[in-house]
Amino acid sequence: MVKQTIQIFARIKPTKQTKTGLYEIDDDDEGCPRLQLIVPRELAAGFINNKKENYSFRFNKIFDQKTLQDEVFACVAQPVIDNALQGFNGTIFAYGQTGSGKTFTITGGPERYSDRGIIPRSLSYIFDTVEKQPDKVYTVHISYLEIYNENGYDLLDPKHEAAKLEELPKVCLMEDADQNIHLKNLTVHQAGSEEDALNLLFMGDTNRMIAETPMNQASSRSHCIFTVHLTCKEEGSVTIRKAKLHLVDLAGSERVSKTGVNGAILTEAKYINLSLHYLEQVILALSEKNRQHVPYRNSMMTSVLRDSLGGNCMTTMIATCSLDKSNMDESISTCRFAQRVAMIKNEVTLNEELDPRLLIAKLKRENAELREQLAMATGEQLSEELSPENIERCENSVKFYLQDSDPEGTLNMGHDLRKIQRCFRILKRYVLEKPQAQPQQVEAFSREPSSLDVGPYRDTETRKLKELLEQRDNEINILVNMLKLERKRASDGQRSALTMASRTSVHSVHNVNSEPLNGHHHQGEAANTSMDNGKGDLINRATSEENIKRQDTFYVSRSTSTTIDDGDSMKAKILGDMSLGRQEAFDIFMRDYRDRDKIEANKQFLKKRYTEAKALGEQLNNSKQKMNHLKKILAQIRIQSEMSDHAGPGGDNQMEVEVRKQVEEEKFV
Ligand code: ADP
Ligand code: MG
Repeated sequence: MVKQTIQIFARIKPTKQTKTGLYEIDDDDEGCPRLQLIVPRELAAGFINNKKENYSFRFNKIFDQKTLQDEVFACVAQPVIDNALQGFNGTIFAYGQTGSGKTFTITGGPERYSDRGIIPRSLSYIFDTVEKQPDKVYTVHISYLEIYNENGYDLLDPKHEAAKLEELPKVCLMEDADQNIHLKNLTVHQAGSEEDALNLLFMGDTNRMIAETPMNQASSRSHCIFTVHLTCKEEGSVTIRKAKLHLVDLAGSERVSKTGVNGAILTEAKYINLSLHYLEQVILALSEKNRQHVPYRNSMMTSVLRDSLGGNCMTTMIATCSLDKSNMDESISTCRFAQRVAMIKNEVTLNEELDPRLLIAKLKRENAELREQLAMATGEQLSEELSPENIERCENSVKFYLQDSDPEGTLNMGHDLRKIQRCFRILKRYVLEKPQAQPQQVEAFSREPSSLDVGPYRDTETRKLKELLEQRDNEINILVNMLKLERKRASDGQRSALTMASRTSVHSVHNVNSEPLNGHHHQGEAANTSMDNGKGDLINRATSEENIKRQDTFYVSRSTSTTIDDGDSMKAKILGDMSLGRQEAFDIFMRDYRDRDKIEANKQFLKKRYTEAKALGEQLNNSKQKMNHLKKILAQIRIQSEMSDHAGPGGDNQMEVEVRKQVEEEKFV
């Protein structure tokens, strides 16, 4: 943004009168151009009634009478146009009383080519410049508006050949929600060349002149705004620069008091002055600091030139002065007005905006990228198919990738899974099309997908196999441990092995004496067990050997139903309580045990002893029965002897001794 005060220039209209002394042009103490207006004494004493004689005004530049059009153009217009071509709005307006040379300065004089004013020179300059910049695309549009009695007229309406200004299409002011001014019915015409533009200017000026009659000198009482609309787009740029260049020929600034002729003209004068009055008010408001409200809307002209006055515009004013004796007061008024205008600071910004088409393309690209990112993030495939352009791009990328001799070369297709998959498909097609050329690659390539295809399935199977393997390992470990345990037991000797077998049987019988059998009779007092509680005396008197015999007998008699001699049955009994694994281990142990022969020998020995014990048991039972019988006889003899005691001792005592002897003998059988 550039802050710039409105530039003010003064132009003195040539006059035929050679009188001098009415004005001076020089530089003031600060080196600024100064226009001094010298009021003749008679005038000062008369009309103006002001004692002051000299009025000095500062300007950016003052063009004296002899200044030619080209110099005015170069100083005033060219910098504004240069900025307009860059994208800054510009306004040049001429202000002064009727006949002071405004139209001559803005449009030019009709007589000589060199009298061309700022508008035709600007058009020429614009098209020249455009031609010198082929890298930029400019478009030039033109509109021409005349404001008369607060009405706008389109001077470039091609349908009308107006006899009167009022017959031209009326232009209306429209304001949008953002308070931007729009001119309805004002046609805007594209000019492709300087000639086109000049034709438009000519047409507008023609309409302007036709509408003017001696009774209706609209040109002096109306404001004319010739606008060049410029757009510039640099090649490859996404932005467009736009600028409006207003070239304004204002109505004469003379006062009402000077114009009063008749009713009609007075009305016009009132309007002229009203709109200029409003212009003055706008200028005044803008030149005052901290002034909030600027009355742009009071007149059409100030509304249209709103941006030019205190807005986004580089504005230049040319104050035209006709320094005749009779015009001194108007000239002073014009210069005073210029001084106020010079206080206005405009804020100029570059009118750069994105090209809507480029914006749409950019948004589309962003949208596509976002969709790709979304697809990557969610893992969801995009539903839309790739466009033919994208497919072609994939083809070209793969082709380039394969042709690239750099082994480190990469194929980067961004994040779009569709593109990535498309590239893979293209690659596969290449490989399949040329299997002979690259057999190894084909093999490698064809192997790869198949292994990829079964990947997840193989993982599952591997996991199952691993689990099975662990299970088997555990089972083997258990079996090995069991084997070790059994070996340890076996290493304790043959006795242990037998113990295991016999303990099982003994426990199942009487659960009294857990002392293992070792193939010999017990030594010493092995047991206190009484086999016949009622007849304790007799038994207690028996020797330890007898006890053992008794025990064995008891054992045998009670265990007749057991299967101690039946190896297979015993084994079945032992194994019956075992798990299958244990049984298996036991079988292996039995088969491989190094003292197996001893076990077998022990088994045979045990069998033999068992048979002997059985026979002894039977013998013992017989003896016991005999003894019981003898005891009964003894008891009868005692009863008989007690009964015969009265008769004296007889042969009964002899019988008792005999029986007792038999009992004793039976004991030692
Ligand atoms: P305005 O538009 O301010 O009413 P014009 O531009 O119509 O005044 O000027 C009035 C007359 O003066 C015209 O005939 C014009 O040719 C002539 N004139 C004005 N300024 C100059 C100038 N600088 N050089 C030669 N002729 C001029
Ligand atoms: Mg004029």
